[in-house]
Amino acid sequence: MNFLEKRIAKDGIVKPGNVLKVDSFLNHQMDIALMEEIGREFHRRFADQPITKVLTIEASGIGIACFVAKEFGVPMVFAKKSKSINIEGEMYIAEVESFTHKNKNQIIVSKKFLGSEDHLLIIDDFLANGCALQGLISIAEEAGASVEGLGIVIEKGFQIGGRVIRNLGYRLESLAIVDAMDPETGTITFREQ
Ligand code: 5GP
Repeated sequence: MNFLEKRIAKDGIVKPGNVLKVDSFLNHQMDIALMEEIGREFHRRFADQPITKVLTIEASGIGIACFVAKEFGVPMVFAKKSKSINIEGEMYIAEVESFTHKNKNQIIVSKKFLGSEDHLLIIDDFLANGCALQGLISIAEEAGASVEGLGIVIEKGFQIGGRVIRNLGYRLESLAIVDAMDPETGTITFREQ
């Protein structure tokens, strides 16, 4: 098991409905030493790419993406979830269905902060059905930026997102892939990588 899998096995809590709670170290309370290690690991995996910006989505992607951006020495941009639609023109907009909240949000990024000269590393905490990543990819496409890779902290391998994104031809790296989890026993099974 790698450093992250060990931590998930120790502190992750399996909830009914295919939800893994990691809020004691990843997305509510954050273990900063672990964040630094995650930042270094994504840097190691994508060091061969000419990354100019790290792109993520609010809220839980932000903290992680900061540590990744610091390793690359580039800015981090996050897509904001917005209900308003009267901002077209200065914003790139995509529609994203939330796995955890079961609602649809528009996500927006100002045109000031992404352009065709950018080489992006897209980062998020979880990958489930892939809606969040597809929204971010669509914003990158609208900006004419190149997506050099996508980095996910925890991929739920039993949901379709990972397959969809890899089938689109993107380089997707997940630090931990959960292939099964049992809410009765709390057992979490990781994919050998
Ligand atoms: P997707 O868009 O791939 O269906 O879902 C990814 C988004 O939903 C992530 O940004 C993450 O915030 C949230 N998410 C999906 N599955 C889980 C989960 O099992 N636990 C937690 N804490 N968040 C999740």
